[in-house]
Amino acid sequence: MSLLRDRIIARIKSEGPMSVAEYMGLCLLDPAHGYYPTRDPLGSDGDFITAPEISQMFGELLGIWTIQTWRDIGMPGGVNLVELGPGRGIMMADMLRAARLAPDFLDNVSVYLIEASAALQAVQGKTLADSPVPVSWVDSLEDIPVGPTIIVGNEYLDCLPVRQFIQTDRFAQDKGWHERMVTYEKETDTLAFAVAAEPVSDLAAQAMPSARTEARNEDLLEVCPAAHQILDAVKARFEFSPGRALFIDYGPEVTEFGDTLQALKRHEKVGVFSDPGNTDLTARVDFAALGEFARSIDLAATTPVQQSEFLSKLGIEMRAATLAKASPDSKLKIARQLDRLTSDEQMGTLFKAICFQSDGLDVPMGFRTMLPSQET
Ligand code: SAH
Repeated sequence: MSLLRDRIIARIKSEGPMSVAEYMGLCLLDPAHGYYPTRDPLGSDGDFITAPEISQMFGELLGIWTIQTWRDIGMPGGVNLVELGPGRGIMMADMLRAARLAPDFLDNVSVYLIEASAALQAVQGKTLADSPVPVSWVDSLEDIPVGPTIIVGNEYLDCLPVRQFIQTDRFAQDKGWHERMVTYEKETDTLAFAVAAEPVSDLAAQAMPSARTEARNEDLLEVCPAAHQILDAVKARFEFSPGRALFIDYGPEVTEFGDTLQALKRHEKVGVFSDPGNTDLTARVDFAALGEFARSIDLAATTPVQQSEFLSKLGIEMRAATLAKASPDSKLKIARQLDRLTSDEQMGTLFKAICFQSDGLDVPMGFRTMLPSQET
């Protein structure tokens, strides 16, 4: 059994149960025994695979999206291109390759990568060794120079820790919500869920999506405070400089009740307590909640669109046809990649894109509409 499990149990014994977010944070990011810092989990030999790993088309289209965004913000100099959670760096490499079509863009851009895992930073360094633009690693958005900024993140939000809350008495309204905790059961020597006796604080209740008022007893809601922090930082940046922040991830357009915490090992679902620190842990991204939070801080946000629609609007079918024409032997492979990224049975509808932007910009490429701004 994992060393991290022993440490988590020791901590629960001395300090009491921990929140689901704390558990998730330790499992994923503990520097000594966490999942990401100690391995490269991606690809067919790893635990999961992502869109940029499936096909070069994904990053190439995001490159085109980025160039269009740069044009939309007036082709400024000194642009920061930021990626959150870049994995193996493949998406950024594909984006920059596509951007060679716009040398004036490349002349004006510096890349910043925000990556919690030292192991993956090393892989990214290799992948981007021939980058046509300067690449550096920083710890947070605050460390990036003020200036026009384009931010992208694929399957980044889903690995940010979520807190879970359970409605135990809906007539008590916000006071009926209790936090779901991780505890240790001595008799069976297992980690297990428990519900905190105390109701949540007013502050925590207010951070929950508005759908909480529709909850029935036993309904569970997830909240991702780290995603809110990111949006706060994006908002602060866009107050002074133009830019956009694009996120693609899996999750619903409307808030759903229920536990979505999931552990993956070698592409199979396993129990979330089965092997702490050695399995990938993610939770669905609540796109409605992201939009609500953005509105609450007056940050312009699009309505989310499905990945299939987003990629289609960016021209993925045309790109696939061009690639197949250039390499007829790969025709079948490219058709399969297109299917994985866009079909309903695969990633096409489960995955969504959402974009946040500075004031005064039109609806970004690939999207339909902006969320109405908050009524005052
Ligand atoms: N975007 C990549 C990788 C997705 S996996 C792709 O699509 O292939 C999630 C990535 O986010 C990994 O690189 C992981 O190490 C990183 N990550 C997870 N939590 C993070 C955090 N809090 N801060 C920065 N990076 C994080």
